[in-house]
Amino acid sequence: MLTTPKPRPKLSVVSPCYNEQGCLDELYRRVTAACKAEVGNDYEIVLIDDGSSDGTRSLIKELSAKDPHVVGVLLSRNHGHQLALTAGLHICRGERILIIDADLQDPPELLGDMLRLMDAEKADVVYGQRDERKGESPFKKVSALLFYRLLNRLTDTKIPVDTGDFRLMSRRTLDELNRMPEQHRFIRGMVSWIGFRQVPLHYERQERLSGETKYPFKKMLRFAIDAISGFSIVPLRFATYLGFICSILGFIFFAYTAYS
Ligand code: UDP
Ligand code: MG
Repeated sequence: MLTTPKPRPKLSVVSPCYNEQGCLDELYRRVTAACKAEVGNDYEIVLIDDGSSDGTRSLIKELSAKDPHVVGVLLSRNHGHQLALTAGLHICRGERILIIDADLQDPPELLGDMLRLMDAEKADVVYGQRDERKGESPFKKVSALLFYRLLNRLTDTKIPVDTGDFRLMSRRTLDELNRMPEQHRFIRGMVSWIGFRQVPLHYERQERLSGETKYPFKKMLRFAIDAISGFSIVPLRFATYLGFICSILGFIFFAYTAYS
């Protein structure tokens, strides 16, 4: 039997959710309003439950049961932000893809500006670039500031500073991203690496609508290490030099011991 593939929706909105029960209804309401205003009915919202332990999972099930625009993806356990997002990016089908966090720190209402900028600039990626971060701890602000600048010194890929994963992408960019097999993913860097024309949209990052950050220090550090080791050979070079130095010292010590 021949089946014709379903046409792609104009837009997919992809949002990873980990213990976001306090944000989901508002996220759904604001994303739906933004999509309807920009592309009518031709959109899907992909919500990924990253093994939440609160009501997030059942809320996603409810939303997808009542609204055919919502596609729920339920992961088997907490796999972490980047892998949850990766799952959603493989499942979404849109011609253009908006990635947005579930906590509404990035306003869905910027969708229209992003679409228009993408058309005007003939760009493949419009990435949100934060001018200000409201309601984030001084530690988070300083560590992010230092991290993005350090990363740029260490890597050859130009990764724009002060960006998150909040971005609009073309289908051909996403197809390239989905072909990359990396396990330890730093998606914003991987998108930069792909190339094509990528332009910033400046915006003010808002406070989290509800709950608290799902990036405690340990996860943040692991994320930073994935970014640096994935995009720079400096750690590898450092390990090589350290190996050399240790073996030379070992040799000197051996010679000294033998001589003594
Ligand atoms: N998130 C996730 N899995 C995790 C941690 C976070 O899916 O293990 C999601 C989270 O629900 C949010 C996004 O990733 O939609 C970014 O997390 P968060 O807002 O806590 O990070 P921050 O903005 O504080 O850097
Ligand atoms: Mg957040």
